[in-house]
Amino acid sequence: MQMDAQIQRLVHLQSLDVRLAELRNRLQAIPAQLAVVDARVSGARQEIAGAKEALTTSLKDRKRYEMDVDSWKDKARKYRDQSFAVKTNEAYKALQHEIQHAETQVAQAEDRLLERMVAGEEYERQVKAAERAVIVVESEAQAERQRIQAEQASLQQELQAKEAQRREIAPEISEELRDTYERVASRRHGIGLAEVRDEACSLCGLRIRPHVFQELRRNDSHEILQCESCTRILYYVEPPVAASPGAELKASAAGITANEA
Ligand SMILES: [Zn+2]
Repeated sequence: MQMDAQIQRLVHLQSLDVRLAELRNRLQAIPAQLAVVDARVSGARQEIAGAKEALTTSLKDRKRYEMDVDSWKDKARKYRDQSFAVKTNEAYKALQHEIQHAETQVAQAEDRLLERMVAGEEYERQVKAAERAVIVVESEAQAERQRIQAEQASLQQELQAKEAQRREIAPEISEELRDTYERVASRRHGIGLAEVRDEACSLCGLRIRPHVFQELRRNDSHEILQCESCTRILYYVEPPVAASPGAELKASAAGITANEA
């Protein structure tokens, strides 16, 4: 088969490869996208757990301070009862001192208790707010997961279709040309083909020698011509005079160069 017919297939193959690489990249990024969504949900759940833990601690403190209040009240009552029975002034004074101390302790324990009760209410509010937030986050996450999974399915579908197309056209290109293309593409970010425009390689800008350019313009050429700088396989499309068949080729090649940039 003549070079221009081969090249035409290779241009198609190249555009498939560019799209395939893009599809594979996007598919590869999907697990990370899903992980971000999951992390958002578990973050919101942790907020609940944190608020609940604070609430539990606060309730425990509250129990303890309640017991403190009771026990100091008991002590004060006991000293007061004893004070009715004492015989000496010193003993009475000592008990009065103890009563005062116990009452101070009661007041302090009551202050701490009140503080815990206020804090407990705040923690209860936080738990409820966190629970409401989780419901919102989870429903958003569900929608987001569905969107990502739908995208994944459509990317997968396109990938399979493009791979099938590639399998179909690859054998129509000579092995030598295909091997050269694969070798260059693997070293040049997946782009193994370069259109010649204004007598220069459109991808690296190197000027094409006149005799190479002449060879590129020949319809019956069988030679693989590569850019001396970037080594990409060169091809040339005659500018459309009227409605030339080259116009279509040029349009699909434009897709390749856009991707390179
Ligand atoms: Zn080049």
